Amino acid sequence: MSEQQFTDVIAKEQHFAFEVYPKRDLVITKGSGATLWDDKGNRYIDCTAGIGVANVGHANPSVVSAIQEQAEKLITCPGIFYNDTRADLMQKLIGIAPNNMQKAFLSNSGTEAMEAAIKFARLTSGKNGFISAMRGFHGRSMGALSATFKYRNEFEPLIPGHAFVPYNNLEKLAAAITEDTGAIILELVQGEGGVRPANKEYVRGVRKLCDEQGILLITDEIQTGFGRTGHMFACQTYDISPDIMTLAKGIAGGMPMGATLCGENIVSAAGKHGSTFGGNPLACAAAIATIDVLVDQQLPDRAAKLGQLFAERFKHNTPGVVRDMRQLGLMIGIELKTKSRPYLELLMQRGVLALPAGPTVIRLLPPLVIEEDQWLKACDTLIEVLSEEIVA
Ligand SMILES: *Cc1c(COP(=O)(O)O)cnc(C)c1O
Repeated sequence: MSEQQFTDVIAKEQHFAFEVYPKRDLVITKGSGATLWDDKGNRYIDCTAGIGVANVGHANPSVVSAIQEQAEKLITCPGIFYNDTRADLMQKLIGIAPNNMQKAFLSNSGTEAMEAAIKFARLTSGKNGFISAMRGFHGRSMGALSATFKYRNEFEPLIPGHAFVPYNNLEKLAAAITEDTGAIILELVQGEGGVRPANKEYVRGVRKLCDEQGILLITDEIQTGFGRTGHMFACQTYDISPDIMTLAKGIAGGMPMGATLCGENIVSAAGKHGSTFGGNPLACAAAIATIDVLVDQQLPDRAAKLGQLFAERFKHNTPGVVRDMRQLGLMIGIELKTKSRPYLELLMQRGVLALPAGPTVIRLLPPLVIEEDQWLKACDTLIEVLSEEIVA
């Protein structure tokens, strides 16, 4: 079978890949900054950033050389030994995190960062109850999925004790708290759920509620982290500190990595958790370079500025098909009165890659290093495409 000839990449992937992804007809072979190339040499302005991963751009030169240098020195080092690169990354990560964050557990993905958060919260609180939000997304492994509102039906029974409440509704959240509630899990901007920023009063209210009732607050910053929303982390926008925060996506310039940051009040001990690849020196070297680029080039500020630019341009030219536009920095959701998919296809044909977030929302998550003229071109193409009559 493997000797079989395939006419193209798409046919080959379709033949061998276990189908879980809704695919787009595009073979991406190369990237630089916010530009991607397909196998035919066509260029695209990338407003997906690998789903909010390439915040410092594709093939960022600092990240590339950090990976090259580290690969020649040491690629793997399990958590049972100490490692120089890992130690440096942890210090750097805690250095940019909210003041109360003191410890980091490193893994390889967002869902793993959530698994760790859920386990650490249970160890600390001694309780099995969690409350999270409707439309929330925290990952696809069974623990993270238990805290996720969608994608769960065929996989139940999941971990018991997870309750769901409407987002941005403090009263309903307060009413859902029971004696068994150990932690509340929230995104500060719901990503997959349609790009929905939390209200400031809501987030502050949740923090206060947690403090009063001795409940842990876990914020999932897997998509909002690393400059995306105009601050290094969205909790800085909301001016609150969680007890546990989860990170992944933009953390290591495209290398797989997840991190669970914990305040002083979170307890653990040797043997309670672990990961073979977690904190491997190659990903750590990439993450150090990524954080340095984010800080040195002030990319969180740039995200705020470019986000503002989009808001102004879009406000004056809002096509009739648009129901709502929601945004925090360079995390942008445009809700349509109709399905978004045909518009995403048309955008791709005109050289702009964007994402869905549910059936009617177009989501833009460009690299924070996107050139200003590229970004304006992407905005104008979007407005142009959304102004067209689409016959489904
Ligand atoms: C992507 C995402 C996850 C899951 O991350 P994976 O790396 O795909 O496991 C969890 N939470 C949020 C908010 C995300 O955006």
